[in-house]
Amino acid sequence: MSAIIVDGESVAGKIRAGLTEEIDILKKKGFYPHLKAVQVGENASSRLYVQNQQKQCEAIGIKYTLDELPADTKEGALIEHIKKLNNDHSVTGVILQMPLPDGIDAKKVQTLIAPHKDVEGMNPANMGELVYGNTKLAPCTAMAAVELVKSVGVEIRGKEATIVGRSAIVGKPVSLLLLDLSATPTVCHSGTKDLSAQTRKADILIAAVGKAEMIKGNMIKPGAIVIDVGINRVKELDAQGNPVMNPNGKPKMKTVGDVEFATAREVASYITPVPGGVGPVTVVMLLRNTVEALKMKANI
Ligand code: NDP
Repeated sequence: MSAIIVDGESVAGKIRAGLTEEIDILKKKGFYPHLKAVQVGENASSRLYVQNQQKQCEAIGIKYTLDELPADTKEGALIEHIKKLNNDHSVTGVILQMPLPDGIDAKKVQTLIAPHKDVEGMNPANMGELVYGNTKLAPCTAMAAVELVKSVGVEIRGKEATIVGRSAIVGKPVSLLLLDLSATPTVCHSGTKDLSAQTRKADILIAAVGKAEMIKGNMIKPGAIVIDVGINRVKELDAQGNPVMNPNGKPKMKTVGDVEFATAREVASYITPVPGGVGPVTVVMLLRNTVEALKMKANI
């Protein structure tokens, strides 16, 4: 068997098209989405994220603005800034760019974003709604993983789902979202005794470990749907297993997932690639949360 590759770009495109229509309708009713990004200090990867977010927001009609605070901003000043944005009626969603400078407790500040503007779904109130099965704003990557499962069109109810990883932003919310869809989730972590036994029983396997190609084909149930959340940078190797070098003499790097794609695709029925799977859908979930946040404000 060779699995069907689930193209994240195509799934993202369909969701984007629906959001564009929703935003048009909201604007006609007088509700305008405005996502405010907050960045503290300068960081190359964060800047890239900001540029991508801006491009994606503006493409579907969401206003996107960036507040850049100096690198020496103290936690108290950042909290005051967040509170100001919470009370600013022209701002409908707030995203805090990571990383933050040393000395600032990222989790503490992030959870101070008002629940109805929390487009990353990290506020404890929104996490609580997830537990109650009343999800409005959930963590973007977790929602992306579940959207990709839904996109293949197989009934989720009654399926065994194994999630490898129990972080608050991926593993735990994925398990709750799949539970709400009446799958039977098992969540694995570093203390799990026999990981292969858990992964091999899964009709739906979600890998969110952060360990390059840890899940091999022989750990996967034939015909499983495999969603690879992992993003790992590794050295590219040649056929002899030696690092491929760049013209500048440094090892060439590539991005791989938590699943060993070549062996897994021979066993699975559907599999997401890395890159090009969960990543593009995660960004679109940020857009969807921004629209949801506006709908919460509009009470519709
Ligand atoms: P964390 O490091 O927060 O969590 C990793 C989880 O994996 C932990 O629960 C850990 O267990 C578990 N784990 C580690 N080793 C093993 C093992 N040998 N067997 C079983 N479980 C193990 O990672 P995140 O959830 O933040 O991210 C996971 C991956 O997803 C990363 O590669 C990250 O880069 C990627 N990611 C991708 C995003 C996207 O948009 N595509 C967004 C966010 C993350 P324990 O709790 O016991 O330590």
